[in-house]
Amino acid sequence: MTIGGARVATQDTFGVVNPATGEVHAQAPECTRDQLDQAMSAAAEAYRTWKADEAARRKALHAAGDLLMARSAELAPILTAEQGKPLQDATFEVIGAAIWLKHFADLEMPREVIQDDASALVEVVRRPMGVVAAITPWNYPLILASWKIAPALLAGNTMVLKPSPFTPLSTLAMGGVLNEVLPPGVLNVVSGGDALGGWMTAHPVPRKISFTGSVATGKKVAAAAAPDLKRLTLELGGNDPAILLDDVDPEAVAAKLFAGAFQNNGQVCSAIKRVYVPERLYDDVVEALAVQARAAKVGDGMTEGVQYGPINNKPQFERVSELVADALAGGARAAAGGKPMDGPGYFFEPTILAGLSDGARIVDEEQFGPALPVVSYRDLDDALERANGTHFGLSGSVWGTDADRAAEVAGRLECGTAWVNTHLALSPAQPFGGFKWSGVGVENGTWGLLGFTEIQVVHRAR
Ligand code: NAD
Repeated sequence: MTIGGARVATQDTFGVVNPATGEVHAQAPECTRDQLDQAMSAAAEAYRTWKADEAARRKALHAAGDLLMARSAELAPILTAEQGKPLQDATFEVIGAAIWLKHFADLEMPREVIQDDASALVEVVRRPMGVVAAITPWNYPLILASWKIAPALLAGNTMVLKPSPFTPLSTLAMGGVLNEVLPPGVLNVVSGGDALGGWMTAHPVPRKISFTGSVATGKKVAAAAAPDLKRLTLELGGNDPAILLDDVDPEAVAAKLFAGAFQNNGQVCSAIKRVYVPERLYDDVVEALAVQARAAKVGDGMTEGVQYGPINNKPQFERVSELVADALAGGARAAAGGKPMDGPGYFFEPTILAGLSDGARIVDEEQFGPALPVVSYRDLDDALERANGTHFGLSGSVWGTDADRAAEVAGRLECGTAWVNTHLALSPAQPFGGFKWSGVGVENGTWGLLGFTEIQVVHRAR
């Protein structure tokens, strides 16, 4: 782990599984309560100086981004071995994290004058909060950590970061790399089980919790934050609909739709998780998606040419298997895939499910894996109602040849990002967050940066 700038070992460790083999391939440190206290104290101590010099912070974030970029070949295999994604995708993830650090290094901090007259000069400025407790999931450990590190540190906060116990190693390694250029204590990285997350959210030091993960855990985090009124950003699950309009060309959109659903083997909070298709086009769309699924190359992420790795962990593998089996038992048809693959590891066939509707578990729940239900609709208003009829509201997309009409329909989706003729198009400048149970607050862009600040009014009488 990295605490106060030092590499720290622990007495206990826990096994980390390579999902391509199903075997424990490494041990990760199990942080004790004492060590967490040390990490929090180191972050609190570092905050005193880190908050004071904005120019130094920008310089350090640039150096951190450059260093991460230069070390992608070292970090990417660590990520593939514990997460499962193909090495090329792991490399893009490291580079993406570096791009995020460098984007925020240059982002302007808003400072507004709201009154400047004979009676007063009134400015609204932003101040850092203190120590941020950051908790991340297993699907994109590095990029999702960078969404927190970059804005939090630029704003003048310091951090204690905890990755998922399924994917701790790449984040621990990234923490080591970044600490080569960050002052000691600014970014501390600890690892352990879920209980460590609970200790962090209940800890008296952090003033802010930045959490990415499931809705169920997000609610626990919100409850843990309440007694101390800690500030909170929650990036939670999604069940993104893609609605195809009646002027869509199935052949033209199939590859993009498939990519929007199966990126990272479907393990993306804002992946397409259900597709709504006009009845007339239904069979063509199902077949066009099935063609994509059958052609997808699945295998060990370290093998050249593999496009999709295994599902990350056993519980998730079992959940996806169960949701697909439930759909098939309920009368759905697997137009492609439909079952786990032979051999060791958590591999599942890229699956397209047809002949099912809302009410099937895999349509109503977040599957978070390589299985996509396609449902038909007769009436667009009804499709929108079904798309919106969920506790989730992360993102969604509308697809059609008439982009203006598609944009009008997209505006009726109840979600944080409404894409038109694309899905999963993200950038560090674009705020990202969810309506309803998909989150509280946003990450990224100026709006994400402001989430790591408190407002201060500086009112000078004249
Ligand atoms: P999870 O909620 O099980 O775990 C997320 C993190 O929370 C892990 O680090 C875990 O150790 C920690 N944790 C567990 N219990 C805790 C507790 N009581 N207090 C504090 N921390 C605790 O989620 P997961 O299975 O790792 O990730 C998958 C979920 O994350 C999906 O629902 C997915 O949609 C969501 N997700 C959301 C976004 C987004 O930006 N909206 C991005 C990626 C993933």
